Amino acid sequence: MDQWSILLSGSEGIGKKALAVQFTMQNFDETYYDPTLEEGYRKQWVVDNQTCLVYATTTVGEIENAVYNHWQSIYRADGIFLVYSISYRPSFDQLRAFWQEIRRIRGDNIPLILLANKCDLLDHEISTTEGAALASQFGCPFLEVSAKTGLNVDRAFADFIRLLRQQ
Ligand code: GDP
Repeated sequence: MDQWSILLSGSEGIGKKALAVQFTMQNFDETYYDPTLEEGYRKQWVVDNQTCLVYATTTVGEIENAVYNHWQSIYRADGIFLVYSISYRPSFDQLRAFWQEIRRIRGDNIPLILLANKCDLLDHEISTTEGAALASQFGCPFLEVSAKTGLNVDRAFADFIRLLRQQ
């Protein structure tokens, strides 16, 4: 069985844990917090008739300090979701510097997917066009998701497993 460790990275409060919880437990709870699960969420899953084990981990703390706080998780991950919230521009603006750190640490051979989370909200600060433009600069796929409604969450992980299997 193939095993993949996928890191959800991005600013605080944009829904990284909520995405991991939605993926592994099909559940969204504004008050949900289980400290024992903070480090990693695990799910055995069938993608294209092939079973795999997915570990979803999240960066903890702000990503401005990426080099100091996150180099180990960047180093260990098989693939990285770059996540921002469509309702919070700083989370979008910060991703470029974080992407440069990933490139510095891992070169350009680590699969990445850009995720625009909180698509259920109506106050969009970042348009779909802007998100897609950033993804094309990063040379990676782009998806709009919602940890709250579950929109595109399984699809994002399935796309990632396929990318990883093609490596
Ligand atoms: P993290 O710090 O990036 O791991 O963010 P959390 O997963 O702890 O989520 C931060 C806040 O955003 C919580 O109050 C969540 O309930 C909320 N949240 C997360 N994802 C979504 C989403 O897709 N839609 C909405 N409306 N709220 C979300």
